Amino acid sequence: MAAQEETVEHKYVYDFAEGNRDLKDLLGGKGANLAEMTNLGLPVPPGFTITTEACQAYLTTGREPDGLAGQIEAHLEALEREMGRRLGDPDDPLLVSVRSGAKFSMPGMMETVLNVGLNDRSVIGLSSQAGGNDRFAWDSYRRLIQMFGKTVCEVPGEEFEHALDEVKHAKGTHDDLDLDADDLRGLVDAYKKIFAKHTGREFPQEPREQLDLAIRAVFESWNAERAVLYRRQERIPADLGTAVNVVTMVFGNLGPDSGTGVAFTRDPGSGAQGIYGDYLANAQGEDVVAGIRNTVPLQELEQLDKTSYDELLGIMARLEEHYKDLCDIEFTIERGKLWMLQTRVGKRTAAAAFVIAGQLVDEGLIDLDEALHRVNGAQLAQLMFPRFQLDHEFQPVARGIGASPGAASGKVVFTSARAVELAAEGESVILVRRETNPDDLSGMIASKGILTSRGGKTSHAAVVARGMGKTCVSGADEIDVNVPAKKFTVAGQTVNEGDVVSIDGTTGKVYLGEVPVMPSEVVQYFEGSLDPEHIDNPLVRAVHRIMTHADATRRLLVRTNADTGADAARARRFGAEGIGLCRTEHMFLGDRRELVERLILASGAREREDALAALLPLQRADFVEIFREMDGLPVTVRLIDPPLHEFLPPLEQLAVNVAVAQERGEDVAKEEALLSAVRRMHEENPMLGLRGVRLGLVIPGLFAMQVRAIAEAAVAVARDGGSARPEIMVPLVGAVQELETVRAEAEKIIAEVVGDSGVDVLIGTMIEVPRAALTAGQIAEAAEFFSFGTNDLTQMAWGFSRDDVEGAFFWRYLELGIFGISPFESIDADGVGRLVRIAAEEGRAARPGLKLGVCGEHGGDPDSVHFFHSVGLDYVSCSPFRVPVARLEAGRAAITTTGSDSR
Ligand code: PEP
Ligand code: MG
Repeated sequence: MAAQEETVEHKYVYDFAEGNRDLKDLLGGKGANLAEMTNLGLPVPPGFTITTEACQAYLTTGREPDGLAGQIEAHLEALEREMGRRLGDPDDPLLVSVRSGAKFSMPGMMETVLNVGLNDRSVIGLSSQAGGNDRFAWDSYRRLIQMFGKTVCEVPGEEFEHALDEVKHAKGTHDDLDLDADDLRGLVDAYKKIFAKHTGREFPQEPREQLDLAIRAVFESWNAERAVLYRRQERIPADLGTAVNVVTMVFGNLGPDSGTGVAFTRDPGSGAQGIYGDYLANAQGEDVVAGIRNTVPLQELEQLDKTSYDELLGIMARLEEHYKDLCDIEFTIERGKLWMLQTRVGKRTAAAAFVIAGQLVDEGLIDLDEALHRVNGAQLAQLMFPRFQLDHEFQPVARGIGASPGAASGKVVFTSARAVELAAEGESVILVRRETNPDDLSGMIASKGILTSRGGKTSHAAVVARGMGKTCVSGADEIDVNVPAKKFTVAGQTVNEGDVVSIDGTTGKVYLGEVPVMPSEVVQYFEGSLDPEHIDNPLVRAVHRIMTHADATRRLLVRTNADTGADAARARRFGAEGIGLCRTEHMFLGDRRELVERLILASGAREREDALAALLPLQRADFVEIFREMDGLPVTVRLIDPPLHEFLPPLEQLAVNVAVAQERGEDVAKEEALLSAVRRMHEENPMLGLRGVRLGLVIPGLFAMQVRAIAEAAVAVARDGGSARPEIMVPLVGAVQELETVRAEAEKIIAEVVGDSGVDVLIGTMIEVPRAALTAGQIAEAAEFFSFGTNDLTQMAWGFSRDDVEGAFFWRYLELGIFGISPFESIDADGVGRLVRIAAEEGRAARPGLKLGVCGEHGGDPDSVHFFHSVGLDYVSCSPFRVPVARLEAGRAAITTTGSDSR
C-alpha cells in the first residue's frame, strides 16, 4: 500500500475564539485582544484574524500565500452561519470591517475599510435591517466607496470631499446630518463616477472581491510612508507585518440610542483612578478618533443609556483585573446593545506609568518587580524635563486640553513641511493645526510641541504625541487657525508663522511669547529637596518607591562622568556611586589653554618644565575638590586626551597673521617659529592622531605631572580625614607596551607621594581602540581595571569619524534601515558589543576580578545598559542627569521579566 502523503496546510486565519492575548506576534495586538475578550465572554462582534505571517508572505512575494483564499472562505462561511446573514445578500446582508492590527500599536498609521459587503442591491437590504432607515443605508454605502476608493484604489480623497461639499452647498448646509437619503443616493452616484474615472473600472459589486482587495490594501499599508516613519520613530522592527481583522459591522450611527466611544480604566495622563473617556452619540468610531465632532465625557452616557453604561463599567473593571493594568477600550452601542471593538493595555504618559505601577502594587495586582518592568528610563528622562515657571506676567491666551505633558516654546508653524524645514535649521517649533492627521507625522516629530484647536484627549494629535513623549495641547477652541494665511487669531490677537508661543501640555494652557521654565518635581526629589515620605505627590512617591526597588535589585553600579566638583556633587545626589570618567582635558580650557599650548609647543626642556610646574598646583586643586565631593567613592581620573588641534592656535589664522605682519615689515621671527611648530604638528585626522597615551609618551613630563597631582590631592584629602579612592586611567591604549611604559613611571611617582598615607591608587586603562579589545588578555596584565570608551570604540570599529558622520549621512542609513538607531546612541551589540564582550572575557581570564566599566555615552542609554548588564560589567558611567535613568534600567535589566510588554 502506498504511503498516504499528508500535507498540513499552514494556518493563516484564526477565528476570534481560537486566539488569545499571548498571540500578538501572530494576530497583532488588536486581533489577540479581540480573541482574549471573546474568550472572556465579553460582547465582541464575531470575526476572524488573518495572521501577520500571511502579511509577511504577501509583502515578500507580492501575492497572497497558497491556502489563504480558501481559509478566508471557510472562516467567512462560518461567520455567515453564526450571524445568520450572508455577505452581499440583497435582503439581509452581513457587513464586515477590515482592520489592520500590528503587534505594536501604530495609531492611525495603517488602513481600515468599513461596510465591506455593500453594493447596489444589498444597500436596500441594509435599509430594511435598519428598520427602513434609507438615509443610514445610503450613508454607509457612500462611506464604503469613499474609504475603499481612497485606501484600496488610491483615488484622491479630496475628490470625494469636494463632491460631498457640493451636495451640502446645493442643500445650503454645512452639516452632513442635514443630507437626506436622496442626497446620499445622488452622492453614491457621484462617488462611483469619481471611482470609475480614477481607476478605469466600475466600483466592484462583488462583496468577496471587495473583501480581498481590502485585505490586500491593509497588507500593503504596512509599507505606507507614514507607517514606515512611525516605525522608525518608535523603533518598531520593519519586518513584523500587520494582521488583518475581519469583524462583523456594528453601527453606532443608527440614531440617538446608538453611539461610540473610547475609554480608559484610569486617567492615561495622570494615572489617577477612575474611569475616563469620551462618548459621541449617533456616530461611528472613526468620528471620535478623528476628532471631527466634539465628544462628551463618558460619564454623560449614564444619563443617555444607563444599562449600557453600567455594563461598560463592569467590563472595564473586569478587563483591569484581567490584564492587571490600565486598559484602553473602543466600544460601540448599536440601538442600546453594547459591543466591545477593541482593548489593549493603554498608552500612558510617563507620569501615569509610574503612578499606575505604584497603585497596582498597592492594590495587590502586581509585585514590585513587575512595577519596575512596567516603567522605563525613557519615561523617567521625560519626567526630568523642566516645566514652565509662571508668574502673573504670563496670562494664558487660550486653554485647551492638556493632552501630553511637558512645557514647550517655539516658533509657530502651520504645516508639517514648514516644521521640518525650520527644525532642520535648528529652530524650536510648535506645530499649530485645527487637528492633525497621520500625514502630519513628520511635522510632529520635528516639533517641540503640538497645538490643535479641535479634538480631545483621544484625538490623533493627543494619542500620537503621548506616544512620542511630545508636549501637546489639543482642542484649544478659542484659537482660530487659518492655515493658508499662515496665522491664527486668539483673544483678538493675531499670531503669525514665526511668532513664539509656549504651550503647557499638563494644564492645556497656551501663552504668547516664551515662558521661562523650572525643574521638574522628580528632579527636585533626586536633588533631595523633596522628601518622598512626606509629600502629597503621587508621582514623586511612585518614583521613589520604584527607584528604591531598582537600587535594591540591580547588580550594575552606576557612576558618573564629571570633571567639576559641582557636577560630581549633583551626580552624587542623583545616586552616582563614584566617578567613572573625569576628562582632565576639560580642565585645561579657558585661562589654562595657554599653558598647555606652551607645553605642547615648548622648544626645550626648560620651557616645558615651567609650563608643567604652573599646571601642577592647578590640577591638584581640581582633584582635591572632586575627591572631596566623592568622599569614600572611587574616582576614575583619565589622563589627558585632547585631540591636539583643540590646544593649538588655528593654523590658517596663524598663517594669515604672519603674512600680514610680514607685509607690514614687522619682526615676525617668533610668530614664524610658532607657525612652523603648528605646521609640524598639524593633523588631517586629529581624532586618529596624537591623542591620549600617544601624547603622554611624546611629551615628557605631562602624564607624570597629572599622576603627581592626583596622588598629592588624594593624600591631602586623606590627611584632612577624608577618603579619596583615585583610579588613574590611561586613554587610547592599543598595545600593552604603551600601558606598561606609563605604568612604570606612574608607579614610581605614586610610591614617592603616597608613602604611608594609606591612600591606594589603582592604574587601569580605557578600552576604546579595537586592538586593545582584541589583545585584552595581554593588556589586563598591566591594568587593574578596564573602562570601555564606547564612543571611540564605535568610531574605530565602524571607521566613522564621530564628529562628522551623524550629520553627514546617518539620516540615509536610518532611512534605509541599515541602522535602527545611531550606533553612537545605542550600542551596536553585534559589532562594537562583540569587542566589549571579547575584552571582558579575555581580560577577566587573564586577571580574575578585573574591574570592568563603561564610560562612553552609551552608559546612560537604556538599551545599552541592558547589554552591559548581560556582558557582566561592574558599572556604567554616564552624565549626571542620566544617572537616575541608568539606575532604573540597571534594575530592570536585573529582574527576570514576565508580564506585559512595556513598549
Ligand atoms: C569614549 O571614547 O567612549 C570616551 C569615553 O572618551 P571620549 O569620549 O572622551 O573620547
Ligand atoms: Mg575616547
